[in-house]
Amino acid sequence: MSQPQMRRAIESGVPDNRQFLHPLLKKNYGNWKYHDRPRPGVLHHVAHSGEEVWTVRAGTQRQMDVYTIRTLCDIADKYAESHVRFTIRSNIEFMVSSFDKVGPLISALEASGFPVGGTGNSVSMIAHTQGWLHCDIPGTDASGAVKALMDDLYDEFRREEMPNRVHLSTSCCEINCGGQADIAIIIQHTKPPKINHDLVANVCERPAVVARCPVAAIRPALVNGKPSLEVDEKKCICCGACYPPCPPMQINDPDHSKFAIWVGGKNSNARAKPTFMKMVAAGIPNNPPRWPEVSEIVKRILYVYKDDARPWERLSDWVERIGWPRFFEKTELPFTKYLVDDWRGARVNLNASTHIRF
Ligand code: SF4
Ligand code: SF4
Repeated sequence: MSQPQMRRAIESGVPDNRQFLHPLLKKNYGNWKYHDRPRPGVLHHVAHSGEEVWTVRAGTQRQMDVYTIRTLCDIADKYAESHVRFTIRSNIEFMVSSFDKVGPLISALEASGFPVGGTGNSVSMIAHTQGWLHCDIPGTDASGAVKALMDDLYDEFRREEMPNRVHLSTSCCEINCGGQADIAIIIQHTKPPKINHDLVANVCERPAVVARCPVAAIRPALVNGKPSLEVDEKKCICCGACYPPCPPMQINDPDHSKFAIWVGGKNSNARAKPTFMKMVAAGIPNNPPRWPEVSEIVKRILYVYKDDARPWERLSDWVERIGWPRFFEKTELPFTKYLVDDWRGARVNLNASTHIRF
């Protein structure tokens, strides 16, 4: 009889997180009795063993230099117990085993410019994609738009005054790592790509580019005797999917790459089902360095939601209750036929196969 084979060690993926946990979190892992929030930015966990842990959450600028990381580590060593973790929205959390340490830790964080908050019904740190810093296809600087908005919403991070938690996100292209959120800011291309025919043959794997178009709008073509590509502009939906594998198909444009705002996305199953977000504003100027038009619309939606939603309604629940016509009335956003509706025919119309179509 053959012996059972030992499983081979998995050599990829993230390391086991338990080796980095605060000793009390490790000891009481999965054995918590309850938790509460003594004040915004502080979580208090009580284990069945009777042991207690206080977690202090602070906001960071997300993309950090070595100096900032050292400052945070020094605070962890001096005022906490040398253990930190980052949340998925780039908050940093410090764990301590005694309530006496919470006050000095908060004072040290705020004195160094890190706001304490982001728990409960607050506006959490805004998630954003990489932007100009280290991606090769962005149409805007997602982190810059977030910085401008977070400056305006600083106090909403430090307080828990929203009807429910609010997640915001910004994405610098329409197709890749963009996120779902209660309010999401997403780049929106409004013109088909401009092709540099001199470069296509040298730079692009043409069949891969043709296959990538979701509406089969790209065909191979000979231009000035050179192999290139052409786009059927009537079919093109300006998604930008051809640009990453073929940079000579430039779609970013200072005037025609705009911002759109989507609302009502939710990933979790908490209280209600996950929901897809819907577009509620489009054609907003991509206006660095502070993107004031974007911030104005996001704040308008956020504060109407804050005033009008019932306790514990997520943004999607609120819209579901009042209906889209009332949403546009209350936020005073202009409604057009291009907004809100999902394209239900996408499954049959979009290019969902790996076949190449010429
Ligand atoms: S959203 Fe698009 S452009 Fe922005 S970092 Fe992700 S892949 Fe790059
Ligand atoms: S991939 Fe997108 S942007 Fe490129 S041609 Fe097709 S629809 Fe237009």
